[in-house]
Parts: sequence; C-alpha cells; structure tokens
Amino acid sequence: MEPVICYPTEGLHQPDLAGYGAVRAGAAKVSETIIPARDARCFRVPAGHFFRITSIEGPQVGDLNLWNAQDISERFYSGKSRALHGTHLTIGDRMWSGFPYLRPMATITSNTLDWYRIDEYGGSVHDVIGTRCDPYTNNLLSGGQYHHCCHSNLTRALADETGMALSEAEAHVHDVMNVFMCTGFTRDTGQYFMKSSPVRPGDFLEFFAEINLLGGLSACPGGDCSAEHSSDKAVCYPLLVEVFKPEIPPEGWCKPDVNGYDQTHGRG
Ligand SMILES: [Zn+2]
Repeated sequence: MEPVICYPTEGLHQPDLAGYGAVRAGAAKVSETIIPARDARCFRVPAGHFFRITSIEGPQVGDLNLWNAQDISERFYSGKSRALHGTHLTIGDRMWSGFPYLRPMATITSNTLDWYRIDEYGGSVHDVIGTRCDPYTNNLLSGGQYHHCCHSNLTRALADETGMALSEAEAHVHDVMNVFMCTGFTRDTGQYFMKSSPVRPGDFLEFFAEINLLGGLSACPGGDCSAEHSSDKAVCYPLLVEVFKPEIPPEGWCKPDVNGYDQTHGRG
C-alpha cells in the first residue's frame, strides 16, 4: 500500500515570503546577543521583526526554544511542527505553538544551508525530531552529573531572564528546533542519529516573528555534533542572534490569532 500524507498542508494559509523579503531589505538591526559556547541566553523579538541565528568562529549547533513573550505557557510545539512540515525545517516552514493556541510563532525566511537537502543517510539540517541534550538522559545512559546540557543551559537562561527559580523555569523548557544540527533516523533500526554539521562561520538561519517572542538559544556542548554531546570533549563555539526591525510591516500581514477550538462544547 502507498503511504498517505497525514497532514496535507495545501489548505494552510501560506506565508507571503515575497512580502517579508520586501520589508527585510530596509530593516535595521536593533539588538544582538552572543550565546557563549556551552551556554544559553534569552533574547526578545517583537512581532513583525526578524531574527537571525549565525554561526561565528567555528561550526556549532544551537538548540532553540520559543515562548510567547506575554505568556510563556504558549511555547513552540516541535511535534506538531514536524507533523505539518516534516523532520527538518527550511524556508517557508513555521514554528507552531502548542495547544490551546496552535498558531505560527515564527516563519523561516532565509537558510544558507538549504543546499544540503537530504543526504544519502536520510540526514538533513535544522531538525524538529530531537529533543534537547539533557542531564537526566546523560545520567541514565552514562552516569554522572553534567551541567552544560542544552536543557540545563536553557533553564538557567530562562531563570536569569525572568527571575523565576530554576525549578520553575525548568518546567517551561521544551523540545527544541536543532538549528544547524545534521540528524536523521537510521534506515535499518529507525534510531536517531547525528553527524558532523555542514555549518560554517557566516551560515545563518533567519526567521520572521509572527508574535512577540521570548527566545532561548543554547550553543550545544556537542559543538558540531559529529561525535558526542553531554560532555566537555567537543570543541564548541559561540553563536550570534541579531534582531532586525523593518521600517514598515509586510503588506497585508497581521499577528496570527490563536486557532480556535472550544473544548467545553465536547461535554455535550
Ligand atoms: Zn545540546
């Protein structure tokens, strides 16, 4: 039997990439954040602005979290973004928020690694299939306490940004988009794999913020993720996040509404 696409996206409202591109040309940089190697930082992007994640100094992958800046209970839903767009995201794909919202938080507008496509192992870049490296899995598989997994880095960054306790911030850290990481599933056993990222200094991934965003980005301790993560063994580099403000909003663009559903009607 032929497979059937679970979620055909032809009916989705498509982003106006030409409209985004038209206002991006005259946009001015309003802020930048350096993400130190093996650590994370938060950054804010108003709706209608662009943000760009750039590799600097050396090949490095980043673990990206997104929250609604006004209400961080609305956050990126990697599973549904994957179900809608596929295992790896590129230009025109959206980062969707979870229930009860399910709206685009950001749209990818530029990707210098678009040329990589899908390699002979089924690997590609910018995945939404991994989770984030974390100290619990590391302890489970290898034993020991490691404090610079992306999960811990993002927890500390969110706590620093918001004033929350670490335990409170931890509950808001979620499955990531693995920016620049090269991953896939092995064909024979279906296991998650990683391989050396093709990212080089100067490569970037750029997004249009559809709503007011609080972002968190961790420069993964795996470096280019060619060998291992959750240790200090890999060579790691910082990442750069820049925010750009267009002179005018894209023509016809407005902040997406939450995607309505009233579950109280289900009680009959
Ligand atoms: Zn990581």
